Formats: sequence, structure tokens, C-alpha cells
Amino acid sequence: MPVVRVEPDVFCVRMPIPFPLGSVNAYLVRTDDGVVLVDAGLRTPDCFAALQEALEAAGVSLSGLRAVVLTHAHPDHIGLAGVLQGRTGVPLYLLDVEEPLARRVWVNDHAGRVRAITQMLRAHGVPEKWVEEAGRQVAALRELVAPFGPVRTLGDGQLLELDGFSAHVLWTPGHSDGHMVLLDPRGRLFCGDHVLPEVSPNISLYPGARPNPLADYLDSLRKVRDLPVRVALPGHGDPITDWAARVDQLLEHHRMRLDAAYDLVPPEGVTAFQLAQRLFFEGSGDGVGPPEIPLPLAVGEAAAHLEWLYREGRLVREEGPPVVYRPAEAST
Ligand SMILES: [Zn+2]
Repeated sequence: MPVVRVEPDVFCVRMPIPFPLGSVNAYLVRTDDGVVLVDAGLRTPDCFAALQEALEAAGVSLSGLRAVVLTHAHPDHIGLAGVLQGRTGVPLYLLDVEEPLARRVWVNDHAGRVRAITQMLRAHGVPEKWVEEAGRQVAALRELVAPFGPVRTLGDGQLLELDGFSAHVLWTPGHSDGHMVLLDPRGRLFCGDHVLPEVSPNISLYPGARPNPLADYLDSLRKVRDLPVRVALPGHGDPITDWAARVDQLLEHHRMRLDAAYDLVPPEGVTAFQLAQRLFFEGSGDGVGPPEIPLPLAVGEAAAHLEWLYREGRLVREEGPPVVYRPAEAST
């Protein structure tokens, strides 16, 4: 069932994706004279077919699309945006913080992005055979996102007002630097990948990004916890009705996970790759077998944990290469 009516005027479009979570959600919201699309899947025939089915369910054609609002610029949320813009001229919206990165990665210089990510993986101790494989994985994403033209940018705290659709925009950095959530007057929060019902969203250190994504993420969770949310509509999985409880679970999960990550750092130190092996690879500790999530995400998430611990003063960082993190106490 790729299309589910989650509110009288909101259709969840469950789009299949070839990544671990299996599907990504986009949302079609009926407006006075058409629909607004929140997030836009991957550029694949499957995602486009799911969208067409949802448009049919909503009783509109592609030309009834009034706006495409993107919570963030990850491939599974932005992939079809350029296709829809090309076919209908529909305006695209992103947070102002996210737009320059999105344009650099998906329009101007994807090859540079692949280089930056492979360089970062090397710097964090990833062996060459894994670096090359990861480079291929990241390069393959290029085909899954259509290039796009001009984008209208939104600011933190702004009220987005379209005919028959309005929502407050809130900047929630962490999962991506320029991630945003949208709260409408009926207590519906389009929360993208900021809060997910089943899994803890991936929080990764990316090249050229803000330096402490986990600190950003925890701040962003606190920022949204007490919003008047009746139902949250996430980027993956089912609607969330116990909003504050789910936010609290994620805060608690990260408190424990950061302690667990610290406990995995031996006196002689670890690289982000070594920590990722312990956290995400099969045969935990040996680093045998492929990681359970794509390697750039596994290493990026391990690095985000180590950076947070470093910036809290619990670890020291040696620049290397490779970059090694050691317990602050053992170093004195
Ligand atoms: Zn994402």
C-alpha cells in the first residue's frame, strides 16, 4: 500500500528505496486548488509511480502541484524535486542553510563531494579497499537525484504561507545541517528525518559541515519537544502520536549511546573507523563482514560521537593521519 490517507487532507506516499530503511515517505497535502508535496523521494520509476498513485488518490494531476517543500537535501528526500520542477515549473522550497550545500552536492559538483567524503574516510582510518567501495556507493547516488533549478529559501521561524497551506518553519540541524521541520496550525508536524518512530536517525559528521552534529541534534530535539504536536509525520515509518515521549526516548538513547561509545575507547585510542567497526560491523569488534549500514554513514556516525566526546573534554584528538581519539584522563 504505497498511499495511505493519514489525515482527511494529507496522503502519505510510501516510496520504495534501495537503502536500509526500505522506504521513504513523502506527503501530499490538499490545498484550496491543488496539492503541496512535502519531500520528494528518489529519482526512480518506483518513487514516481508511487507519487502518481497518490496524486490520483488526492484527485489531482501533476499540474495540480502547487509547491514542493523539502525538509532536507538527502537523496531520498530531494530526488524527484528537479523532475517535478522541470515538468511543471512548481516552486521548490528549502531552508536557507541547506540550499547552498544541496546545490553544490546535487547540481554543481557531485564529483567534488565524492572526493571530500573519501578523503574524510581515509583521514578517519578507513582502509583503502573500503574507501574505494564507499566512493562507488556515494558516486552512485548522483543518478538518484535530478538536478534542479532555482530554489526558494525559507528562514528559521518563518511562516510559510501558500494558498490553503501554512506552516511554521523550524531549523533543526543534526541529521543534516539545514534540516527543517514544519508545524501547521492543526498540530501536524512534518518532521522529516529529525525524529523517526522506529530507529534513531543517523547523525553523521560530514566534510565541510558544522563541527558538532550530535550537539546540534540534541539541541534540536529539545527545541521541538514541547511544540503543540498532535501528530508528527516522519520521513520514514508511521505517524507519531506520542511526540514528547518519542523525543524523550531519543534523548535518553543518545545519552546512553554516548556513554557506551566512550567506554569503547581504549587507553591507546581509536579511529572513527575502529569505533564504527565495534558499533556497526557484523562479528562486532573484528570488523569482518560488511557494515550493517553504508560505510560513510557508519564512520560518519562514529566520528560524530567521538567529536561530541572530544568537545565535551572527555577525549583528546590527535590529528594524525589517521585522526585518533584517546581518553582525556589517560593522556595526562
Ligand atoms: Zn535524511
